[in-house]
Amino acid sequence: MHNEHVDILIIGAGPAGLRCAEVLGNSGLSVLILEKNKVVGPKVCAGGVTGLAPEEDLPGDDAVRFYKHHVFVNGTERVISLKHPIAMIDRHTLGDFQLNRLKRFRNARVHTDNKVISVNHEYVITKSGGKIYFRHLVGADGAISLVRRYLGLKNKFYIGMQYITPKTYARCCWVVQPRVLRSGYGWIFPHKKFTSVGVYFNPKLVPHATAKEFLRLILQRYSLDHPEAKLETAPINCMYSGVKFKNIFLAGEAAGLVSAASGEGIAYALTSGEDIGRHILTPDYNFEKTYRLLQYKQRQEMALKVLDSAPIVLQDIMFMIFVKLLTVERLRNYFEGVG
Ligand SMILES: Cc1cc2nc3c(=O)[nH]c(=O)nc-3n(C[C@H](O)[C@H](O)[C@H](O)COP(=O)(O)OP(=O)(O)OC[C@H]3O[C@@H](n4cnc5c(N)ncnc54)[C@H](O)[C@@H]3O)c2cc1C
Repeated sequence: MHNEHVDILIIGAGPAGLRCAEVLGNSGLSVLILEKNKVVGPKVCAGGVTGLAPEEDLPGDDAVRFYKHHVFVNGTERVISLKHPIAMIDRHTLGDFQLNRLKRFRNARVHTDNKVISVNHEYVITKSGGKIYFRHLVGADGAISLVRRYLGLKNKFYIGMQYITPKTYARCCWVVQPRVLRSGYGWIFPHKKFTSVGVYFNPKLVPHATAKEFLRLILQRYSLDHPEAKLETAPINCMYSGVKFKNIFLAGEAAGLVSAASGEGIAYALTSGEDIGRHILTPDYNFEKTYRLLQYKQRQEMALKVLDSAPIVLQDIMFMIFVKLLTVERLRNYFEGVG
């Protein structure tokens, strides 16, 4: 077993962990990211990034951008035009982009194929038997976070299920059918060389089998079915309980920083990773950007609560009204932070 000491240890090379390390680049502090996977980037994710994420934090060239969104509520279509498009970004590309930016800094290293199996307030132990001491630990280890579990925090899981089909598609679509998916939704997010077709749902309200069948019907209806389409499922943790716990920080999904209403988490991960880095460098900095995003998460979740507590017969009409409201730029800004 080899021992090592670092100033900042980050667990997880997702958008949150990599962004945090980048902010700490050139600080003179030793920064180490431990990533369990061999490759940085790939993650079960549709890759839709809203204007909540700063453009400069994203690989612009490869993204497909959608200003127009086709929303189907029980088959009735409404088109929402956004001022800030949603960019479809392949997670592999995002990982490469962030990793390349990190290579500029000599004080930050990424160790892949290096899973952390145990955590406490002083050190972590890796699968290969390494013991790594830290001054600050950043848990950026996603939905099933070991660091979060060590801190004794609860989770609230939603589920994202998607087919990645090699077919491409011209329109970005959202499919809502409250009687089947309750407040969840289906999506078609076209990328340059593939399309993510998925469903997002609350497993306490919707059985897995129902969601899977809904997804199969979307594939059929939009002719996106393909023999090589690959089904992927992953939990999404939406329970936010704070970012700072003495010398331990939680970033991104490990912190529950995902909107329960939409499942959006990439912008939250980038922002919270950045804020934690800034706070470590300047302790007076108080996570302002993360708190701004939390405001939208809370507003969206308030609307979700109202929807979920309404009788199912009313949900159809409430969804229609809500989608109509979202065509108004000012209201979209209020709920989503971008017009
Ligand atoms: C089906 C689906 C679709 C989604 N679509 C979207 C979308 O379109 N837009 C959007 O904004 N969000 C989407 N999300 C949510 C989004 O994927 C996450 O919120 C986002 O990836 C969180 O980033 P993160 O850096 O916090 O964690 P992650 O991206 O999960 O990264 C965590 C990293 O930590 C590593 N790790 C975990 N445990 C350990 C360990 N013990 N030791 C070492 N390394 C470890 C993992 O391998 C991983 O690389 C979707 C989620 C799902 C499931």
